[in-house]
Amino acid sequence: MGTAARMKDVANLILDGEEKIVVLSAMSGTTNNLVEISNYLYKKNSDGAGEVISKMEVKYANHVKELYDTDEYKEKGMQLIRERFAYIKTFTNKVFTVFEEKEILSQGELISTGMFNLYLQEKGVKSCLLPALDYMRIDKNNEPDSAYIRENLKLLLEKNPGYDIYVTQGYICRNSFGEVDNLQRGGSDYTASLIGAALLADEIQIWTDIDGMHNNDPRFVENTKPVSELSFDEAAELAYFGAKILHPTCVLPAKVNNIPVRLLNTMDPKAAGTLISSHQCNDRIAAIAAKDNITALRIKSGRMLLAYGFMRKVFEIFESYKTPIDMITTSEVGVSVTIDNNRHLDDIVDDLKKFGTVEVDKDQVIICIAGDFSAEKKGYASKIFDALRDVPIRMISYGGSSHNVSILVNAEDKIAALRGLSASLFD
Ligand code: ASP
Ligand code: MG
Repeated sequence: MGTAARMKDVANLILDGEEKIVVLSAMSGTTNNLVEISNYLYKKNSDGAGEVISKMEVKYANHVKELYDTDEYKEKGMQLIRERFAYIKTFTNKVFTVFEEKEILSQGELISTGMFNLYLQEKGVKSCLLPALDYMRIDKNNEPDSAYIRENLKLLLEKNPGYDIYVTQGYICRNSFGEVDNLQRGGSDYTASLIGAALLADEIQIWTDIDGMHNNDPRFVENTKPVSELSFDEAAELAYFGAKILHPTCVLPAKVNNIPVRLLNTMDPKAAGTLISSHQCNDRIAAIAAKDNITALRIKSGRMLLAYGFMRKVFEIFESYKTPIDMITTSEVGVSVTIDNNRHLDDIVDDLKKFGTVEVDKDQVIICIAGDFSAEKKGYASKIFDALRDVPIRMISYGGSSHNVSILVNAEDKIAALRGLSASLFD
């Protein structure tokens, strides 16, 4: 939601007579502004922070004027804005650490939900604000505490019976110490998924401004189409490989509790969107996605031949630098892996040299093809390689799961690869 007008549209969308919990993220741009404020405060530049805060206050005052009809609600809205920004300003003359930053980052969702709830009330809707900080919690490993979430969310709903709409904040939560924390950027989708799982909802709907998950990247390929149905496994592969529409963590809680997830478009609410469920469509390729900024490392050693424990030693090096490996391919005398985090690349390469020769290729792209690749399906591999006949291929991964084939290519060949694959697999 970027404007007051969008907020009104969203209100119309949700008022279809069905009971629901509505999870909102901050208005667009807000979380980025709050990050900016925090960056200034880390640098003890309170003037810099003050400037961003003033700009935000002006913007929000305008939103309030536009959103509400009556003077009574305009005043209520202004009071909410004044309170939140007064709170943000208290951090400009304090010691600033990651704890204060998380308090600041939580304000975007507190403001958007407060404004929206007031708007619904002005329209006469029976709407209730559920404070996420009272039920959403992560544990010591930063994983959602499902039992706590379920218990406390149910309690909160029991204490507030009889409403048609419950509005709550996405993204924000408390950690195991009870401090304000968050579910990482883009985490509102995750909140919705966790709530749906906690309450065993009929359906989890994620509303964005695209009409579902497309079968290829519309920025690079013409005539992409929304995929009407995906299995949880296909969606998880695609979400991870950069299909921005869905936060990768969202799929798991829905899958575990078998709750369908529907991706819908606020700009075109009648469009079918994408339904993600346990149903696997057989015998088709669902979609293609790409992940940029990948580095490939090849470790070659005669010592790998007929040896055991070689892989473990290689993987341990990545583990010691907390660097996840995404793709792997092996031969008898070598192994190639990809990483998308280069922070410790030099140290990793240095350590790997104990075990063999090391080659590094930067600026690679993983192309992920998701669909039904169960073993008996013949013919897809030849179609894929035919489509890529003019594209140099660095790695191929097939059979890791039956829902995915991954191919590593040079960044400069990405668009040709995506277009070729679309033409061969979908047209
Ligand atoms: N407001 C948060 C962010 O911008 C969470 C979200 O939008 O999902 O990352
Ligand atoms: Mg968002």
